[in-house]
Amino acid sequence: MDRKERMSELVELLNEYAYRYYTLDEPTVADAEYDRLYDELLQLEKEFGYSLDNSPTRRVGDAVLKGFKSVRHLGRLYSLDKCQTKEALSTWIDKLVKTCGYMPKCSLEYKFDGLTINLLYRDGRLERAATRGNGVEGEDVTEQVKTIKCVPLSISYKGVVEVQGEGIMRLSALAEYNSRSNVTPLKNARNGVAGAIRNLDPKVTAARRLEVICYNVNYIEDEFLSGSDMIKFLKDNKFKVSDKFDLFDGKDALIAALDGIEEKRDGLDFLIDGAVIKVDDTAIREELGYTEKFPKWAVAFKFPAQEATTTLLDVIWQVSRTGKLNPLAVLEPVDLAGVTVSRATLSNISEIRRKDIKIGSRVFIRRSNDVIPEILGIAEHTAQSVDVSKPAVCPACGAPVVEDGVFLKCSNARNCAPAIVSAMAHFASRDAMDIDGLSDKTLETLYNEGKLNHYVDIYKLKAEDFIGIEGFADKKISNLLGAIEKSKKAALDRFIYALGIPNIGKKAAKQLADSFKTLDGVMQANYFDLKAIDDFGDIMANGLIDYWADEKHREEVADLISSGVNIETKQAVIGALSGKKIVLTGSLPTLKRSQAKQLIEQHGGEVSDSISKSVNLVVAGEDAGSKLAKAQKLAIEIIDETKLLELIKD
Ligand code: NAD
Repeated sequence: MDRKERMSELVELLNEYAYRYYTLDEPTVADAEYDRLYDELLQLEKEFGYSLDNSPTRRVGDAVLKGFKSVRHLGRLYSLDKCQTKEALSTWIDKLVKTCGYMPKCSLEYKFDGLTINLLYRDGRLERAATRGNGVEGEDVTEQVKTIKCVPLSISYKGVVEVQGEGIMRLSALAEYNSRSNVTPLKNARNGVAGAIRNLDPKVTAARRLEVICYNVNYIEDEFLSGSDMIKFLKDNKFKVSDKFDLFDGKDALIAALDGIEEKRDGLDFLIDGAVIKVDDTAIREELGYTEKFPKWAVAFKFPAQEATTTLLDVIWQVSRTGKLNPLAVLEPVDLAGVTVSRATLSNISEIRRKDIKIGSRVFIRRSNDVIPEILGIAEHTAQSVDVSKPAVCPACGAPVVEDGVFLKCSNARNCAPAIVSAMAHFASRDAMDIDGLSDKTLETLYNEGKLNHYVDIYKLKAEDFIGIEGFADKKISNLLGAIEKSKKAALDRFIYALGIPNIGKKAAKQLADSFKTLDGVMQANYFDLKAIDDFGDIMANGLIDYWADEKHREEVADLISSGVNIETKQAVIGALSGKKIVLTGSLPTLKRSQAKQLIEQHGGEVSDSISKSVNLVVAGEDAGSKLAKAQKLAIEIIDETKLLELIKD
């Protein structure tokens, strides 16, 4: 194909993708894929010195959806120019400096990944809300937007004003929505917002707990001197604005600040896909003007994409330490934030059915904090798509598979090799008994050689057990036996976690240790004692009672203790925060979450994850969300980092 043909092919393809994304709210490729093709088109247009009439590089957004009234914005809405590297941003700033003769003050803000909303107020009343549409005309979504609680229905300013903001769905709201069994899971937060606002039934919008974060005054009869003034106006009129708005008059400091935003990105409760840099002075903005598509006084710095689309090649079932069969997606390798990805997690068979995931289909994957990405949902089925079938027998040992709620389980987990090895690996892991050198591979070898059959056997290993096993030199053996010996002294919470009790993770194990202080206390706790612990529901409480009711488990604990495991009993710390239950929310200016938690515990306080009446104090930082609001409602004392440090000063 010659390069001109490629240019028209790209225009066709991108317009089709844009139609599915903007008009149908059903994207079939990830943004990264769209952006790659868009950049290829831009490059060709630059080479040839022209663009086709219907090129997406000439216009903003797409058509108005049928069923919605089309409305004309008072001020035109634009897209944003973008750069992907710091070098490109540096060149953009250099050009700006050249035009102005000096570096004008610029703001740095989050680039929210949601849906643009344009709010029109007249005589202090919200007259209408519209989507961006093609920038000139958008869809009237007034009734939908009125259900969003942070959008003021009336404001103190009485002139005509259009306020632009981004409709977002918090990730916590998305997780809560997707956990409901009666809904079709949303693919991601951006799609959740677009589908909710561009929905003819305002009840759907209301159910998704959206927010609109405002960042621009798009039309006003009065004048602003700067972008900062606009933000002040928005705040004064009680719009929700972002906490992130910093001004810079030096290029290096501005570019360096991008790292800080990127670092925070994973910890935010909403999606951002970059940062926006805007000249602050409105007189300079006017002078610089606009292209057909974007303002020349602003640019978006895009972060590496966290989502990609690829083909699901297969689903394999892996046996976990509890005998659960976990589905693992095998993917056609794809680049995701600079890493080639070929595996992704899937929760369980009912999730696979709910998301309509089929082998051979194209799927959306998202990088999360974990090493392995997750499958968000289907991008497109293909002619080869087939259902994922449930395995009838355990792929490792051939025992029949049984159903346990939404999970599939090997019916023979106590004798199924991968389950035994994983349970031992969990027992030996760093957060559990922390046995250095006892890797999965070593455990597998020792299991295959018949030296270990359960984690209780670990403390019975002797030097002679390693004789004749390949890869075990004297030094390795003595290091390993030394590490096993050292691990015998164990904190109560680590020991509980190491046992691998179903549904008792690190946090729950720590809560059990804090609440009952001794192993006997934990083993004897009744249903009501357990339910009194924060976030302990019926499943966890009953699960623990059932666990200890099984004689085998009591014998295993007795066996470990008689092999020399010495469990340290929890001593209560007496300090300035003794008896105080404290919740941390938002990001603190200097302390990391883990440091703040450690400090609180060192001074006798207990850190809780959720707000309830029993919480005494909330330490709130930047971007504190629903927890802060809930704490205010319950009239719980709220302090900042400085106050926390003051409290524990002595
Ligand atoms: P954009 O979303 O990259 O940038 C412009 C938008 O950023 C503005 O309209 C505004 O809504 C938003 N924004 C967020 N925070 C802001 C802030 N602080 N200040 C100003 N604006 C802010 O550009 P676009 O034209 O809306 O969309 C293009 C992008 O959409 C593409 O880069 C692509 O990633 C995606 N897209 C994807 C597909 C697909 O099929 N996956 C199709 C079409 C477009």
